[in-house]
Order: sequence, then structure tokens, then C-alpha cells
Amino acid sequence: MFGKAKKVRFKQKGQFASLEGKTNKQGIRWTSNGVEWSGLKLQAIINNDPIILHGLNSKVKYVRLVRRIFNQKTYWFAQLICEGKPYQKPKNIIGNGTVGIDLGVSTVAIVGDEETIWTSFAVELISKQKKIRKLQRRMDRQRRANNPENFNPNGTVKKGSKRWHNSNQYKKTAAKKREIERKQAAHRKSSHGKLVNRTLELGKNIKTEKVSVKAWQKLWGKSIGFKSPSSFQSELLRKAENAGGTVLMFSTRKTALSQTCLCGNKQKKSLSQRVHHCSVCGLKMQRDILSAYLSRYIDPKTETLSIQLARNGWLGMEKSLLDGWHSGVKSTFENCG
Ligand SMILES: [Zn+2]
Repeated sequence: MFGKAKKVRFKQKGQFASLEGKTNKQGIRWTSNGVEWSGLKLQAIINNDPIILHGLNSKVKYVRLVRRIFNQKTYWFAQLICEGKPYQKPKNIIGNGTVGIDLGVSTVAIVGDEETIWTSFAVELISKQKKIRKLQRRMDRQRRANNPENFNPNGTVKKGSKRWHNSNQYKKTAAKKREIERKQAAHRKSSHGKLVNRTLELGKNIKTEKVSVKAWQKLWGKSIGFKSPSSFQSELLRKAENAGGTVLMFSTRKTALSQTCLCGNKQKKSLSQRVHHCSVCGLKMQRDILSAYLSRYIDPKTETLSIQLARNGWLGMEKSLLDGWHSGVKSTFENCG
């Protein structure tokens, strides 16, 4: 605009969804109850949510305006970036115990002193994914029908610059798809948040394997598969550290927990083998839960398993591990049915 920028970034029509100031002194500013921006005054609609009140009582550093589309209607939000600590809901109590976690692509096993949680990452997300793919295919068909001149006889898109004609039907389908994607993202975020809080109730000292997102990507592709577990993990670690907990991430290669038994026997397992059944001592346990249990006994200095401590702890924990296994099986079954 002023010819002074070194680097100019362009936005496509419709992609200009957020805008922020640098300070709260000039440009986009937050005054006591609304946004001011060179003559423009917008009164904010504020509810009595304690999170928002906590934010309003903090010092505002700068303001971001964000466009959100709900059910094909456009809303503008002012996000206030504040100084200080985030609001802590009174019901989210944070425990002091140690929690071992085994993170899989679609499941997670969480073993605390008092409780074992074994759950899958939101089964209902998968049905939404199917809807999204269906709409994606419909958009593709509509696009082809409206722009036959842009395609080669073999169905591929022609090279070079083209004009695309988007019919109203196509735009409707696209809006529908965006709405489902938004709902899916919101749903994922809230179900992760709940699981993170449940985990922190068990304890803020987290022990877990270093997860290679790259290796997962190779196995599962860039689908929803790996996004869920890695965003759950980063959210958990962030909150645990904020609460003054400790986080230990040990390397898988060194420990090979998924192949280790409590008796010291090491047995290779295929990925499809979900239950650990030791051929030496006869121990039987769901494999992810056993890994999560053993994670609790990784020595932070050597990053190796203290198997004697794990054996000592077993008797007191076995019931909670079995309970976690059984309730996990039950909830998976219900979700699928
Ligand atoms: Zn064994």
C-alpha cells in the first residue's frame, strides 16, 4: 500500500480471515468494552463466561480480528492477546502422581497411580471424515461438469492458466464441507481437552515414548490418523509443564517397551498383535496398557527401564490396569455399534 514493504504476501479472495495489531496503543485497539480502529468503533458482545472475565481483567497486549463462518453466516471475533497466566477451571484439579502414556495412531493408554484409561481417539471423527470425502467427490464432479474445457480427455487437469467457473451448487457444497470441517476440528479440540484434563488429574509428571510423527506419516499417510495423537500429546505436555510438572520423553529404540515383559523376557510382536501374552511367565495384558505401565518405571537419567521397580508395583496396580482394559473394550464396542 505504501510501497515500503520488503516482502509482500497476497491473499486470495475469501482467505483474508484474520488481522492483528502490533500493540494496544495504535491501530486496532481494545478499549474498555470494544474495538477501535481509526474511526471505527465496534461494541463487543460480552457474556459472563469466567474465562472471558479472567482475560478482560488482564493487560491486553494486542487485538486480533478473526472471521469465523458458522452455518454459512459470517461472524467477526476480537481475540485479545493478554499478559499473565491462563484461566484454570476450578474443577480441573491437577494431581502430583506419575503418569505413563502409550500413544498409538488411534488409541492411547494412560496409566496413573489410581486409574488406567484406555481409549480411542474419538471414533465419531471417522464418520465425519466419510461425509467430508463424499462432499469432496461431489465438488469434484460439479467442477468437472461446469468446466469441461479445463480437463484433458483422460480426466486430468489441463496445464497453464485457466478460468474456473464455480456454479452456485458448487459453492453450496463447498460451504457445507467447510462447516463439517469446522465442526470436526472443534469436536477434536474439545475431546482432546477433556482427555488432557483427565490425565492431569491423575498426575502432572508425564513419562512417554518419543513419537516419530514422520514414521507414522509413512505408515498412515497424511490423513486424520496422526494429527489426533500428536496434537493430544503436545497439548498434554504443554499443560503439564505449565502446571510445574515434569515431562520425560524417552527413545523407543533404547527401551523397546512393547517387546518387554515384566519377567524380563523380550519377545518381538507384530503390530496386529494387540495383547501381550508372555510365553515364559504367562502374563497377559493389553499391549498398550502394559507399555504405558512400564513407561512409569523408566529412569530419567539412564532412560532405561527399572524392571525391579516395575515388578514391585505390579501387584498393587494390576486391578486398575485390568479395569482400564475392560472399560476401554466396552466403550470401543459401544462407539462402533
Ligand atoms: Zn513374562
